[in-house]
Amino acid sequence: MKKALLFSVIVVLAALFFIFDLHHFFTLESLKGSLAQFEAWRNESPLLTAGAFFGVYVVVTALSLPGAAILTLAGGALFGLATGLLLVSFASSIGALLAFLVSRYLLQDMVQKRFGSRLSTLNEGIERDGAFYLFTLRLVPIFPFFLVNLLMGLTRIKATQFYWVSQIGMLAGTVVYVNAGTQLANIDSLSGILSPALLFSFALLGVFPLIGKKIATFFQKRRVYANWNKPSSFDRNLIVIGAGAGGLVSSYIAAAVKAKVTLVEAHKMGGDCLNFGCVPSKALIKSAKLAHTIQHAEKYGLESSTPQFSFRAVMKRIHDVIRAIEPHDSVERYTDLGVDVKQGYAKMLDPWTVEITNNEGNVERLTARSIVIATGARPFVPPLPGLDTTGYVTSDTLWDEFAKRDEVPKRLIVLGGGPIGCELSQSFARLGSQVTQVERGERILPREDHEVASLVAHSMTNDGVQILTQHNAIRCEVVNDEKRLIVEHNGIELPIAFDELLIAVGRQPRLTGYGLEELGIDTNRTVTTNEYLETLYPNIYAVGDVAGPYQFTHTAAHQAWYAAVNALFGQFKRFKADYRVIPWTTFTDPEIARVGLSEAEAAEQGIEVEVTRYQLDDLDRAITESETDGFVKVLTEPGKDKILGVCIAGSHAGDLLPEFVLAMKHGLGLNKILGTIHAYPTWAEANKYAAGEWKRAHAPQTILNWLEKYHAWRRS
Ligand SMILES: Cc1cc2nc3c(=O)[nH]c(=O)nc-3n(C[C@H](O)[C@H](O)[C@H](O)COP(=O)(O)OP(=O)(O)OC[C@H]3O[C@@H](n4cnc5c(N)ncnc54)[C@H](O)[C@@H]3O)c2cc1C
Repeated sequence: MKKALLFSVIVVLAALFFIFDLHHFFTLESLKGSLAQFEAWRNESPLLTAGAFFGVYVVVTALSLPGAAILTLAGGALFGLATGLLLVSFASSIGALLAFLVSRYLLQDMVQKRFGSRLSTLNEGIERDGAFYLFTLRLVPIFPFFLVNLLMGLTRIKATQFYWVSQIGMLAGTVVYVNAGTQLANIDSLSGILSPALLFSFALLGVFPLIGKKIATFFQKRRVYANWNKPSSFDRNLIVIGAGAGGLVSSYIAAAVKAKVTLVEAHKMGGDCLNFGCVPSKALIKSAKLAHTIQHAEKYGLESSTPQFSFRAVMKRIHDVIRAIEPHDSVERYTDLGVDVKQGYAKMLDPWTVEITNNEGNVERLTARSIVIATGARPFVPPLPGLDTTGYVTSDTLWDEFAKRDEVPKRLIVLGGGPIGCELSQSFARLGSQVTQVERGERILPREDHEVASLVAHSMTNDGVQILTQHNAIRCEVVNDEKRLIVEHNGIELPIAFDELLIAVGRQPRLTGYGLEELGIDTNRTVTTNEYLETLYPNIYAVGDVAGPYQFTHTAAHQAWYAAVNALFGQFKRFKADYRVIPWTTFTDPEIARVGLSEAEAAEQGIEVEVTRYQLDDLDRAITESETDGFVKVLTEPGKDKILGVCIAGSHAGDLLPEFVLAMKHGLGLNKILGTIHAYPTWAEANKYAAGEWKRAHAPQTILNWLEKYHAWRRS
């Protein structure tokens, strides 16, 4: 009841402020126009005028009304620098405190109750660093002050702490504004406007946010490094931990610009992608696709047959493929490029020192001005009871474990309906395994649009995969020598017998054992970084799977560029990692290639889009190859050809996508794609025809009607 009353009073006061147009008094013109009157009042009764000014300032700030900046200038203009500063500093801090208390009284309980779990990290941060955050926000006015007052009221920061940090933090900005106000009083002629003192004061207003930011950064750096002794010189410019896509590209860039760089790898050069991820999985997909083609050869006028093969030979080919690509990522290649490669386990001892323990147990310590963490991720294995008894494989172990087999596993369970689970399920089914894919969610490929996931599910089912969605794996057991996975579906437990269990339920970043904990580097599923990819310590960067938000080879490489350049040249210019146009492909059959918004995401975010589709069964090349399933779907801004997102489903989708990626990256619309010659008969023509569909839907009907009349007239 009391809350409702207070809320109503605030709303009424704020409404009156706008209804009576009071905000017009809080403009520079109005201030200049009334200054003479205010000065007369001040000369007549200085204390009363100062008191009234103080009161108005407190009320305006407490009610979060616009006008504090003009009032601050007025303070300088009327009372001079010292008195103006005194009045404004206390009035603004008291007003801010009142706004803070009102927000806390009205909303804090509700917000903390409702979003408590999600706010826990923020609350912990505020408890630990609240004063510093607030100080930074006050010093660097990137957020309006009234918003800071209101939002801080919702956190658990103490009111007294809020008051004094606000007063100190706002002091520098207040000085700059009050000082500018004192100059405002002097503008009484054209020469006054151009006086150096005035120009300087107003220039200060402009550069203050930058100076504030620099000061805040300086304090922040001093704070995080306070407990560590910085070496007086460094052995290296850069040390990179992990030689997967992220680490290789970071060290490559550093060496290319002649920096002294050490790359440390504990296991295999090339990381996940080469050894356990993209490369072996795509090699497997190729063999599986060939087997599938042989089984369906009648589609091409040949005789279908059951492919005869040794699974051992298929696995051997996969390892041959890895070996063929290995030299690209090898120690020798990177040494030739100028990278100092060390095989061993790296651990950060302080923000500049890395300890490397090689396989023989020898330990070496190196210092570097900057460090890039590129330690990747590993498969997540859910803690299912009985897993140890039945055994299982993951994408890390599958390639070596299955290489020992002559035959594909007869009954294979794939746990997980994400891209990796789908690619592997389909491949093993095509090679002859009886595959059951178990997914807890409502459908496979949850990141893709419904129709896309259905298309893939349909194709996989045709290949023999039994897809069980909304089935939750709860335990494993062995009964009469038979391994079983017990799943729960609609409250009922069901056993599924298997020979091999492949777990593919996601990959968790490596976050322990190499110094993150000791250095206090924040992690929240991934290593926390800012947009420059800096961790808590601005000289330590994180890229790739360990940093997120994506888990792709190309995003790891993309981030690596930013991290390496920022690490080596950040003192001159830093670059924010750019995630605006990120493509990805799922290599199922049909392939799914995506960039930008999907239809579901557009709907979720309330973004209006136009959807244009082109079905591949209309494409000559697709018809010649009897691969007509799929489509190109383009999302554009309504009425414009600006591309907001693309999804291609079908053969070669991943290779068709880059034309759209290029267009989105460089702001080219569908008209430009339509105006580009595409060789006939290629798959890429599908992109042009999709653009053509869009054009047809936007044909200028009125002009076409007139043209029809014009041609009719010409014929008459
Ligand atoms: C089956 C599968 C298929 C995939 N298919 C694709 C695909 O088609 N396309 C795609 O873009 N992505 C794909 N991925 C994902 C891709 O493999 C990863 O996104 C990519 O490898 C991430 O690179 P990274 O550099 O972040 O980490 P990683 O490649 O994981 O490299 C990290 C390296 O750091 C090393 N390391 C860790 N800690 C230390 C330490 N303390 N000291 C020294 N070294 C350390 C590790 O040994 C590892 O070699 C696939 C992944 C899997 C599992």
